[in-house]
Amino acid sequence: MSRVHIIGSGPNGLACAAVLARAGVGVTVYEAASTIGGGTRSIDLTGQGLIHDVCSAAHPMAVASPVFLELDLEAQGLEWCFPEIDLAHPLDGGRAGVMVRDIQQTAAGLGEDGKAWSKLFGPPSRAFPKLSGDINQPIIHFPEHPFSLARFGIPSLAPATTLAKGFNTEEGKALFGGVAAHSFSPLTRLMSSAVGMALICAAHANGWPVAKGGSQSIANALAAVITENGGTIETGRLIKSIDELPAGEPVIFDTSPAGVVGLAGHRMPEGVRKAFQRYEYGPAAFKLDLAVEGGIPWENEAARKAGTVHVIGSFEELVAAEHEINYGRMPERPFLLVGQQYLADPSRSEGDLHPVWAYAHVPNGFTGDASEAMIAQIERFAPGFRDRIRGETAMFPDDFAQYNANYVGGDIVAGANNPRQLIFRPRATLDPYKVGEGMWICSAATPPGGGVHGMGGANAARSVLRSLSH
Ligand SMILES: Cc1cc2nc3c(=O)[nH]c(=O)nc-3n(C[C@H](O)[C@H](O)[C@H](O)COP(=O)(O)OP(=O)(O)OC[C@H]3O[C@@H](n4cnc5c(N)ncnc54)[C@H](O)[C@@H]3O)c2cc1C
Repeated sequence: MSRVHIIGSGPNGLACAAVLARAGVGVTVYEAASTIGGGTRSIDLTGQGLIHDVCSAAHPMAVASPVFLELDLEAQGLEWCFPEIDLAHPLDGGRAGVMVRDIQQTAAGLGEDGKAWSKLFGPPSRAFPKLSGDINQPIIHFPEHPFSLARFGIPSLAPATTLAKGFNTEEGKALFGGVAAHSFSPLTRLMSSAVGMALICAAHANGWPVAKGGSQSIANALAAVITENGGTIETGRLIKSIDELPAGEPVIFDTSPAGVVGLAGHRMPEGVRKAFQRYEYGPAAFKLDLAVEGGIPWENEAARKAGTVHVIGSFEELVAAEHEINYGRMPERPFLLVGQQYLADPSRSEGDLHPVWAYAHVPNGFTGDASEAMIAQIERFAPGFRDRIRGETAMFPDDFAQYNANYVGGDIVAGANNPRQLIFRPRATLDPYKVGEGMWICSAATPPGGGVHGMGGANAARSVLRSLSH
């Protein structure tokens, strides 16, 4: 049987290789960087012995990913650590919207919005484990659980600003809105609720854990499955053209659609190449990794215990900031996601010095320095934060694009989450993984989209296996 060649060792590339290797197919993974992992690497970014996640931090989709469970990554040493509080969204005056895994506890904390929260997220989060087969494949398919899927899918079609009208308190609106904003979309846009629905249901079903020892542990566990099953991984190997690989053997791209065109445009069917060239990229991230003595002194007590903190203030401020970045303008007060992974996994800290992970949503290709705006945003809800910073390193959008070719213009979710690309990703077809004769794509630019879950890789592997069996 021929060998399958996988370009890129992100979680999708590695999951794809692991599924194929376990099915008895010979695989080789090529990774441009000197270490494996793509968006799941962890290193000491501030030079003080701390473990910082370079990219992904919280893993609500990974912890119950069907392919990660099938590959039994926990048997390869992967361990999930759960924070006491999954998410806090601080507001002025020391208040916050707070989400924990237990939906009743979350609802109780939301006061008069508790009922609305339970009504919207209760049924789909209870059905979430059985919905996972439906959610993790291309949207156009015959659903296994149509009624449960409808309870999840119908609200997902709405703009986040419409769903937010179901909440009366600032806490309820902001808590929902901050999660919806993980899509990087304008929150007034159709389907801008979809990512929020998925992540909130995943939180109530599975929690938002972090990987013990850093997200790198996820990549390491996947790599162990590959090598145990006879596969090989070559790091420090940038593939510049598909012609470098043995002719006639299948190739899978864990790359952006632009990456596929750059590597194999001359071999792609014209219609597919044009569709990949039309693929749109979204806004970018500007990241700060910090060493913080004593942690962040949030005014709100729940935020001091939360694995993830959303920093922007009110829902209205969030809607305005996300609108600006989508139209190429840098807001004065950007939306920030702050990760305090060390609370669930103390092995990442050195004594009372803790790694803090934070990124701001900025326009695609933004060249300015957002560090000061980010620190000021955190300081607004945690006075005294600035004085506790002992080390700091910044990643600009262009640094992300250099770090990983998949992050086009600093877009860290491999493509704009507009309605067209939420439904048809990377192009309109029944097998979105197939690129052309002997070529597939498996990255986060394929369904089910951005995030660490490996399901793009698993679905592409199944498409390859179907083709090899013919
Ligand atoms: C700052 C940041 C925060 C994030 N936070 C989260 C989070 O908390 N939770 C979550 O679930 N997700 C998060 N993500 C998103 C997540 O990391 C990605 O969606 C995920 O890693 C995508 O996986 P992938 O396999 O598609 O590709 P990637 O992880 O992007 O990996 C692609 C790999 O391919 C390699 N490659 C590309 N081209 C070539 C080539 N020509 N030759 C050889 N190698 C090549 C790259 O070097 C890279 O290693 C975050 C991402 C970033 C950047």
